[in-house]
Order: sequence, then structure tokens, then C-alpha cells
Amino acid sequence: MKRIIVAIDGHSSCGKSTMAKALAKSVGYIYVDTGAMYRAVALYAIRNGWMTEDFIDEVELKKHIGTIKIHFQTNVEGLQETYLNDENVEKEIRSLEVGNGASRVSTIGFVRQELVRQQQAMGVEKGIVMDGRDIGTVVFPQAELKVFVTASAEVRAQRRYDELRAKNMDVNYEDVLANVKERDERDTTRAESPLRKADDAYVLDNTNLTLEEQNEKLKELFEEKV
Ligand code: C5P
Repeated sequence: MKRIIVAIDGHSSCGKSTMAKALAKSVGYIYVDTGAMYRAVALYAIRNGWMTEDFIDEVELKKHIGTIKIHFQTNVEGLQETYLNDENVEKEIRSLEVGNGASRVSTIGFVRQELVRQQQAMGVEKGIVMDGRDIGTVVFPQAELKVFVTASAEVRAQRRYDELRAKNMDVNYEDVLANVKERDERDTTRAESPLRKADDAYVLDNTNLTLEEQNEKLKELFEEKV
């Protein structure tokens, strides 16, 4: 069976990573969460004092961008975790603050260039499922299967809220909804690689789909391609 590249793009919190992970696991492909990479860069900038609520020190960030090494490792429970310069930062990068920071650093051209370079290197052997905002348009425009996932902002905010609450994080629904809308706005209007559907992407609106239904749909699309 030929090995392909599966590019999954879409809005924040629409279940991209859940379906991408499920597909990768069932077909034995590598899964890459590119949002986690932008989150790791944001965490690095926050920790070094280069990002505050209204300022990013792009000069310092640019100076150090080449020293930020991100990799993924599977833990004993079989879950993939994100490492920033060999430190496990999986929990820390999932906060609302870091998510918001990721959405801000991801508007910077040199940050995108460096992460796209690392992402393309991960896909040279194919057999990869990658999710993000620009995978089908910029990282792998030649991907054999492209899927653009979406759902209403309210449904996405509810899912994200449930997820954060399940991790015992102290959040309220209105803040999560505002965060989802703010990130949508920034992702779709930024000058650098804005979120948009690739012309040849299949649109998957999962507002009214169960997890099983969306996973099945993706598997079906995959099987058609291979
Ligand atoms: O997918 P996730 O919410 O973890 O991504 C965090 C942020 O990183 C997004 O809000 C988006 O702005 C940015 N991102 C991006 N390009 C990608 C993946 C994520 O700009 N390929």
C-alpha cells in the first residue's frame, strides 16, 4: 500500500488533533501536532520574558529561534507528548495563556519559516498525518489527502471547556468562547499564511458528528486515496 501525506487543517478546537491521532494510530503513521510546536515557541518566549500581554520582543526571539528544538515522544500510556529542548512541556503548553501566545507568535514570519522547515523535514518519508492551519496550503501543498475541518464557534468552545475542566483547569465557558473567536479572527486575517481551505481539500464540518462518525469519515477518505 502506498504511503501518503495527510494534511488536516481547520479552526481552533474543532477536533483536528483527535481525528488526526486516531487515523495515525489505526494506519501506523506518524502524527505531528504543529499547534504544539507554535505553543512550545510561545512558552519559550513567555519564560524568557520576551512576550507580555501587549509586546513581543522579536529581536530576541529571532536571535534564539534556531536554538529551539521541539520533538514528540510517546509516553508509557501510548500518548504523544511535546518536548521543548528535551523538557516535557505537554501540560504547560495546553493552558489558555500559552494557546493565546501561540496564536500571536504564529503571525511572525521567521517563526513560521523555522517551524515549516522542521515540519517538512518530518514528512520526507511520508506516512505522516499532520494537523495545523497551513499544512495543505504551505507545508505540504503536494499532500495526497487534505481535509479542512470546521464546526461552529460555540460547539468548539464547549468541547475545549470540557477538555480543560477534565484536566482540572479553572476556566469559564465565556472566556473560552471569547478565546476561540479571538484566535479564529487572528488565524484567518494574519498576513503570514492565514488559515484558509486549500482548493483541493475536503471540507469536514463536524458540528453534528460524533467522535466515531468523524473518525470513520476520515478513515474512509484515507482509504479512497491509498
Ligand atoms: O492547534 P492549536 O490550537 O494547538 O494551535 C495553537 C495556535 O498556533 C493556533 O491558534 C494558531 O494560531 C497557531 N498555528 C498556526 N499554524 C499551524 C498550527 C498552529 O498558525 N500550523
